[in-house]
Amino acid sequence: MRHETAACPTGIPSTNLLALDEEGMNRLVQQFAWPRYRAGQILRWLYQRRANDIYQMTDLGQGERTALASVATIPRATDCRVYCSIDHTRKLVLTLNDGLTVETVLIPEEERLTLCVSTQVGCTLDCGFCLTGTMGLKRNLKPHEIMEQVLTAQDRLESGERITNIVFMGMGEPLANMDALTEAIRRLTNKSWGLGWSPRRITVSTAGLAARLKDVAPLGVNVAISLNATTDDQRASLMPAVNGIASLRTLLSACRRYPLPPTRRLTFEYVLLAGVNDQPDDARRLTKLVRGIRCKINLIPFNEFPGSPFRRPSECDILAFQAIVRQKGLDVFVRRSRGRDVLGACGQLGNLSPSYAGRALTQIEARC
Ligand code: SF4
Repeated sequence: MRHETAACPTGIPSTNLLALDEEGMNRLVQQFAWPRYRAGQILRWLYQRRANDIYQMTDLGQGERTALASVATIPRATDCRVYCSIDHTRKLVLTLNDGLTVETVLIPEEERLTLCVSTQVGCTLDCGFCLTGTMGLKRNLKPHEIMEQVLTAQDRLESGERITNIVFMGMGEPLANMDALTEAIRRLTNKSWGLGWSPRRITVSTAGLAARLKDVAPLGVNVAISLNATTDDQRASLMPAVNGIASLRTLLSACRRYPLPPTRRLTFEYVLLAGVNDQPDDARRLTKLVRGIRCKINLIPFNEFPGSPFRRPSECDILAFQAIVRQKGLDVFVRRSRGRDVLGACGQLGNLSPSYAGRALTQIEARC
């Protein structure tokens, strides 16, 4: 239950504690003339204990909590719809403060439970095989809105469940919102007051903003590059915006320069589209393009969505493509789609018309 808060001079507590980075929290604590360690205590409450009420912070004195509550709040998301797939994938649709919605997906797979996180509402890029791309960009997410997806997913885990991996492959291009991405990863990996995640369990995916790859390296996370084509003509027709920013040659040069630690490798994602980029010649060109790069390749058979001109390749074509790439000694995996029935699979995130959403989702919808 939320306690009454004493009013600040404006009458409304105005500081969103979740919006403060560590420096901001230090400054807030200084304003109260509290010891510096109070900042760490408050941050631990926010991230490690997922507090939603300042009065839960029992290692602060009653007077301190009242003072803090007079100027600050913890506005955690209150509206979250959960759509459960028959394969147990769960799509969470969070409503943000301005009424926009953002989607995040929990994907169970054998020993893993992966959370796919969004960094933008919509996307500026216009990859033809992606539903998010049809929305255009509504806005960038702020660091706390990225974190909110993780905290909300943790709140809704079933007993015994634990998120094992986080992938920034949801709505939006993560490298187009680099500052917020960096700050969110700082909060995820901080061992003192954050979630204490190893960067090795975090993957950032890019559609190919080659010039920004160097900014990802210091974060120590895994990197996935969404390649999807083996010639510039093909890529320009599938991913016109990003291919206009960086050609295949520029992108692969940036990949070759990427300072990979000795035991790590890049991941190339390749969405297979029937009759478009799934032919034997495509597979052969793909092996040449990535030659010399320490990498693995994930093949993602296209996940269809309403209005898309593309089709999913046959199983036979998928396996033939994989075999050609494998013959060249490359590690290549077919990523089996999860959550297709709730439009939670790769490339399926985004707003749908109510009529389609109703058809696709109502039978399995749950609201929390
Ligand atoms: S695939 Fe990624 S970068 Fe391309 S439109 Fe979709 S969300 Fe944006």
